[in-house]
Amino acid sequence: MEKCCDLASIEQEIKSVKKRPRKPKDTDAIIKTYEFRLLLKKKQEKALNLVLFYLCNFYNDNLRERVEFLKRKKEAKVNKSIFSEKMTFESQCKNITNLKDKHSIHTHLYQDSLKRLYLAFQSYFKRIEDKNGKAGFPRYKTLAQYNSFTFQDACRNRGIRLVADKPGTCFKTKRINMTGVGDLKYIQHQQMEGNLKTIGLTKDVDGKWYVSFVREIKKNILPETGNSIGIDAGLKTYLTFSNGDVVKTPDIYQESTLNIKRAQKIVSRRQKREKDKEGKIVKEESNGRKKAKLLLGKAHVKERNIRNDFTHKESRKIVNNYDNIAIEALNIKKMVQTKGFGKPIHRAAWGQLFEKLSYKAIDAGRKIARVDPSYTSQDCFQCRNRVKKELSDRTHSCHICGYTVDRDLNAARNILRKGFPEICEELFQTIPNNIQNKEPLFNLENSARAEAVMEGQSMDGLYTREAQIK
Ligand SMILES: [Zn+2]
Repeated sequence: MEKCCDLASIEQEIKSVKKRPRKPKDTDAIIKTYEFRLLLKKKQEKALNLVLFYLCNFYNDNLRERVEFLKRKKEAKVNKSIFSEKMTFESQCKNITNLKDKHSIHTHLYQDSLKRLYLAFQSYFKRIEDKNGKAGFPRYKTLAQYNSFTFQDACRNRGIRLVADKPGTCFKTKRINMTGVGDLKYIQHQQMEGNLKTIGLTKDVDGKWYVSFVREIKKNILPETGNSIGIDAGLKTYLTFSNGDVVKTPDIYQESTLNIKRAQKIVSRRQKREKDKEGKIVKEESNGRKKAKLLLGKAHVKERNIRNDFTHKESRKIVNNYDNIAIEALNIKKMVQTKGFGKPIHRAAWGQLFEKLSYKAIDAGRKIARVDPSYTSQDCFQCRNRVKKELSDRTHSCHICGYTVDRDLNAARNILRKGFPEICEELFQTIPNNIQNKEPLFNLENSARAEAVMEGQSMDGLYTREAQIK
């Protein structure tokens, strides 16, 4: 086992980190995570679960310490007495050296746990400052919530290291050695590039373990295509592109939804852990329920994989085909709260799709614009007049210029204009510059208006003319 470093060395390390000048950011590099499934023996799985157990306890103990510290601080404020205590990441690092039994867990994992707690508080303070919704005080974690740990210094082989291939094994079979646990096998189905930053181990809800290598890689700039696109996301049609293409709403969840429903029913039927009024456990959770929970986890993982596969493929297609991509900056949190739309919106996973689109676009050197989605489906793309409509109105029909197209197509084009106005004007020359469009521009009822527009009158002039006609 590697020697765990003592407090002095930790403090020295923290000081040295502070003193070290920050490297200038490499703009041509991006962070990429490679994830592989671990093939564990029963013994190893047990050992890893134990690591999570101790780290989770350590996290909760330190959170308790912080909570008590805040209480004392508050009391001192009320009593107007002097309060000189301080609670920082560094001061909590002392708790690592004070640990009576480290359970042969590498010190860096305890540090990682403290770092998580520190970051949880940092973002809590930031949320208070921002005053954006609930601040949400950091919570105690259960074992189900504390499901991963990271070796921050993996690039220097601290706590975890890559092991040379065994002769005679498949070239994809690789091993890593984790301090205190031993050699862990995994199948590396993809070649890795770049410099190693950190290595993390995660336990999924279905009980499977994964190892992830975080690496810094060079951007993979794709050749220019000369195409630009605006994308509208909807429930009726999943994606509508400004050039008229559509991606239909995928019908892939039927089976997985049924499985989740079934599994959920079994879980709720079985014996839960029960507590009395004093918080004492009266009945333990049954083994049957634990097993059913694992099956429910598996069903959820399956649905997640389907969704991931779909969003990965769609985002890859878009990034490969277009240089400039305009998308909506959707506020999914707010949208989900709309009655009756919660589940379909969660399912649609536009957030995931746009996130994947964003990082793939950055990697490929594409331009991406996130535009404010308000009024994109109301405004007329042709004459920019606002045409009010209900959610059930599926076509956009402008009563001023007569522009009639599918509602989503109108929105997609408006999104493109908002994101890349100059490129959009080049692509679709709209009123008042010139009239060139595939769609029937004017209907007979609006012929007078059409005449006015064709003559190149401004929209203000149109209204006066309209009055004259009347
Ligand atoms: Zn119009």
